Amino acid sequence: MIHNLHTFDLKDKRLLMRVDFNVPIDNGRVTDDFRLRAALPTIQHCLQQGAAVVLMSHLGRPKGKVVENLSLISVGETLADLLEMPIKFSDDCISEDARDTSLGISPGEIHLLENLRFHDEETLNDPQFSMLLSKHGDVFINDAFGTAHRAHASNVGVVDQFRQKGIGFLMEKELKYLKESFDHPLRPVTIILGGAKIDTKLSMIKRFLSKADTIIIGGGMAFTFLKAKGLEVGSSLIDDKMLSTATQIMNEVKNQRVQLVFPSDFVCAKDLESKPDGVYLRRDIPEDLMGLDIGPKSIEKFQKIISSSKTILWNGPLGVFEQEYYAQGTKAITEKLVEATEAGQTTIVGGGDTVAAVRSIGFYRDVSHVSTGGGAFLELLSGETLPAFSALR
Ligand code: AMP
Repeated sequence: MIHNLHTFDLKDKRLLMRVDFNVPIDNGRVTDDFRLRAALPTIQHCLQQGAAVVLMSHLGRPKGKVVENLSLISVGETLADLLEMPIKFSDDCISEDARDTSLGISPGEIHLLENLRFHDEETLNDPQFSMLLSKHGDVFINDAFGTAHRAHASNVGVVDQFRQKGIGFLMEKELKYLKESFDHPLRPVTIILGGAKIDTKLSMIKRFLSKADTIIIGGGMAFTFLKAKGLEVGSSLIDDKMLSTATQIMNEVKNQRVQLVFPSDFVCAKDLESKPDGVYLRRDIPEDLMGLDIGPKSIEKFQKIISSSKTILWNGPLGVFEQEYYAQGTKAITEKLVEATEAGQTTIVGGGDTVAAVRSIGFYRDVSHVSTGGGAFLELLSGETLPAFSALR
């Protein structure tokens, strides 16, 4: 059994907390604080309960070296602003100075450690490094969902060093929406898939063939399926290596209750940089054009499916949303999900690009759950057991 925060008496405890502060930084400034905000409820609860909190995270891929622009110092500044309190910072995560600072902080104070991945030992899950990290606290809490699919020192190796250990509110929420809500889902269940890469979503698609009622396939990946069905798709994105897999999936669906739904029309253009040429039905895409967004008929069809679903999971933008011309489908579906959430349906969004798209439209607070995980999100939904959770069982 994995313990949650409510099972611990946190008063006067020193808490070592793994958080996911892997946020985009530009010129020493945090440009997107989504993951920091997602960690606030756990941090605030622990402070209010009278714990001293030591935070540790990785940032980017410094590959075992100190890389100045991957320092967590600017993250600490942003966090201090969000919490409206000072935060102590150590420029190394396992130095004696850093450990002394952790020992010296009082209940209600925060100490942030420097980027864990400045040491190779973090990703190597090195036992000595894990032991040194564990010196920072008496209770271990993992609230870093973004790295839950990795077995690293700070989320797996360190765990054995603690008697009292568990997960924070963010991890609990991710588990509730990505695991429990699909153990006994409220039906009908609709999965909306988009984006460009089929291979990264393959295990999840296969799992949901027997769990979902409808799987909508949009975005660039739709064309590989349509081509496998025998349609001409002009110069749209095709993943040749996945054609036989797409055929296999479509054959498998014939024996399942799940329905696969594809866009009926597309906004097409000469290339990614061009203005739209027009909207074409999926069987009429001209040879020299590519489909870059779903068209109005598809939007209407997908919206109807969303309206009649109880649980909706979305991963992957439905068009090249980075270009305003081709962001309309993704926008319309986001707005429909917000409406569905207001009507009491469960709506879950995840994956880096999808979250970026929903956030750029300004709506991420208005769906039931926006996952902070990329790889961890896909792996958990594929039914895999993630190392960070196994370690805490
Ligand atoms: P993924 O990482 O597989 O979720 O793919 C995300 C990317 O898919 C985004 O950068 C989108 O621009 C891209 N994408 C979505 N729809 C299309 C499309 N119709 N053609 C080409 N790329 C697309």
